[in-house]
Amino acid sequence: MPKVYLDPGHGGSDPGAVGNGLVEKDINLAIARRVRVHLARHGLAVRMSRTGDQTRPLRARTDEANAWGADVYVSIHCNAYVDESANGFEVWHSVQPGSRSRILARSLVQWLDRLTPLANRGARSRAGRGGRDYYHVMRESRMPAVIVERGFITNRRDARYLGPASGQAQVAEAIARGVLEYFGRNWIPAGPRAEEPAAPPAPAGQEAEQPEPRGVWYRVIIGSFRNQANAERLARRAREAGFDVWIDQVRL
Ligand SMILES: [Zn+2]
Repeated sequence: MPKVYLDPGHGGSDPGAVGNGLVEKDINLAIARRVRVHLARHGLAVRMSRTGDQTRPLRARTDEANAWGADVYVSIHCNAYVDESANGFEVWHSVQPGSRSRILARSLVQWLDRLTPLANRGARSRAGRGGRDYYHVMRESRMPAVIVERGFITNRRDARYLGPASGQAQVAEAIARGVLEYFGRNWIPAGPRAEEPAAPPAPAGQEAEQPEPRGVWYRVIIGSFRNQANAERLARRAREAGFDVWIDQVRL
C-alpha cells in the first residue's frame, strides 16, 4: 500500500501568506484534508504533518516522513507576491537528476491544469548551495518530494477561487488524481457512494462487511462529445457550478 505524507504548509504561529481576506495555513489544511479523504478511499496510507492549527517546524515534518517510510512527500502551499497580477499554480520538484519527484510534479501539473481554472506555471526546481535542493522538504526527505503552490493568495482572481469550498474541492481532486496516477492507480469517482445509506453497525466481535451498492442508480448526463477538449470544457463549467463531475470514456 503506497504511503503518502501530506504536508499542509505553515500552521499555528506561522500563518504563511496572507491576502484578500485569506490566510494560507487555513487553506492548505482544508485542501490537504480533502486530498486525504480521496487517497484514503483509494486504499492509500496517508499521514499528515498537522491535522489542526499546530505550529510544526519543517525539521519535525521531514523527520516524521522519513521515520514513517513514506513513498512520497506532498507539501501544500499557496503563493504570494508583491505584484498582485502574479497568478497561477506551479509544482516544485527536486533538482537531483533522475529523481522521481519530477515525475510526480508533472503528473500534478497535468491534473491541476485539467481540472482547475488556475494558470499553469509548470513544474519547476531550484538549486541551493552546492547544487543541492534549495527547499528543505526536498533536501531533507528520503522520498520523492514536491511542493504544490496552488495559486497566488495575493491575486484577487486566484483568491476568489481558492477561498470557497468549491475551488478547494477541485484543487484537492487534482492533487489526489496526480498522486494516484503516479502510483498507477485509477480514479474512482466519489459520486454515487457518497449517497449510500450508512451500514448498520456490526455486532461486537464481527468485521463490518463492505456493503455492495445495490438497486437502481439514476445518472444525470449533460453531454457527449467526440472531442475530449469539449467534454473537459463542459465538465469544468459543471464543476464551477458546484457539481462533482467525472468524464467516462465510451467506445462505440
Ligand atoms: Zn507557504
